Amino acid sequence: MPIPKSPRRSLPAALLAGVLAAAALGGAGLAGRADAAEAAGGSDTGTRTVEYFADSHGEGRHVQVPAAVPAEIRKEKRTPATAAPDGQVTALQKTGPSEGRLDLVIMGDGYTADQQEDFRQDAESKLDSIFAIEPYKSYKGLFNFWLVNTVSNESGVSGDPTQDVVKDTALSSYFFCDDVERLLCIDEKKVDSYAQQAPDSDIVFVVSNATKYGGAGYSGVQSTAGHTGIATMSSDNDRSYLIGAHELGHSIGLLADEYQYAGYGRYPGAEPVEPNTSILTADGMSGAKAKWYRWLGESDPAGGTVGAYEGGGYYEYGIYRPTQNSIMRALDTEQFNLVGREAMIAGFYRDADVLTARTPTTRTLRPQDHIRVDLAPLAKGLSDVRVHWYVDGVEVHRAAAERTVTGKELGVRKGTHTITATAVDNSASLRDPAAIRAASNSVSWTVKTGK
Ligand SMILES: [Zn+2]
Repeated sequence: MPIPKSPRRSLPAALLAGVLAAAALGGAGLAGRADAAEAAGGSDTGTRTVEYFADSHGEGRHVQVPAAVPAEIRKEKRTPATAAPDGQVTALQKTGPSEGRLDLVIMGDGYTADQQEDFRQDAESKLDSIFAIEPYKSYKGLFNFWLVNTVSNESGVSGDPTQDVVKDTALSSYFFCDDVERLLCIDEKKVDSYAQQAPDSDIVFVVSNATKYGGAGYSGVQSTAGHTGIATMSSDNDRSYLIGAHELGHSIGLLADEYQYAGYGRYPGAEPVEPNTSILTADGMSGAKAKWYRWLGESDPAGGTVGAYEGGGYYEYGIYRPTQNSIMRALDTEQFNLVGREAMIAGFYRDADVLTARTPTTRTLRPQDHIRVDLAPLAKGLSDVRVHWYVDGVEVHRAAAERTVTGKELGVRKGTHTITATAVDNSASLRDPAAIRAASNSVSWTVKTGK
């Protein structure tokens, strides 16, 4: 999006504070997202922090990796691929203008000019799997998908199947990043340059042509193309899509990791800003009407009931998560918990609008002129969007749910009036008034009688 409507482009301060505090305690292997912020943008120097999942059913881990691709992988690059489809952009799904949508850019690596159709199929397969998960499923209509072709000189990627394998590929993706087999790193600069080919880039998925399980999550990315997160995933492994689904939990839902590191001890910080971790117990939350108190006791799609389960945000004690398990804790489930779902939906609406004006709002209309609105094509499921019409702030109830009206039909007679259409999402997945407010948007027109 050209103009972010939210602070999601900056790293949550409390998360940074927590990480820095943890780093000061000398914990091993913790997320240094501060480093991610510093090293973001594909800097060739220093390190950046990425998340990976060593086990396709397990919990995540953060590690610092060199920001630059190792020289031995880079130097393989001979002449740049110049085959026809390199950099070509295809709209896999376009439901509306980029200003009102989340633009997800998907690109491949390790696909030769002859394998571009393979890439397209692999990309569609990943997207199908991710968008079968709620709340992605119900809100898929708020996304545009841009497929960007990259042409590699060689098929496959470095480190697959073994560490000594080196391939000349468009994005230099490689397993065994920082000697971690399942960690699939990429050259962020190259990703950025391809992403710039797309009309807009909020999130990037890189599908690497490989059979080995693996991937990585880059958050807090600063890019010229505009994206703030990159998720890499291997093409032929049927669980690698969960890495992408989890990583969007950070970049769209602003969710914390709900897993912990053994031996990491007690959380030392203040209340985290993320919606899905808290220093409060269930009783504390109820008493203070804080965090996910509205969901306590509910049966959860991720299993069990919503409560306050100790351990999360990398710490073992003194910090709580909403459910025993969820996709933000381990990839043995594909379910977000109720708290995560609400945060994801609020995140979708932070960057996307369900209601757009088809009749331009810039000119003054006459009472008999048609006023038309479009609604994003959301699926039946979690979403429940209705349109309401107002004249000078007073709702005209009989017009509710209409997509086309005239000022006359709304009862406009003499003078100058403001007509407003508002879309409200009454989803049962939204309970926080701030999230419900974020889930509605309005458009207004001026209607004038006479000359
Ligand atoms: Zn994570």
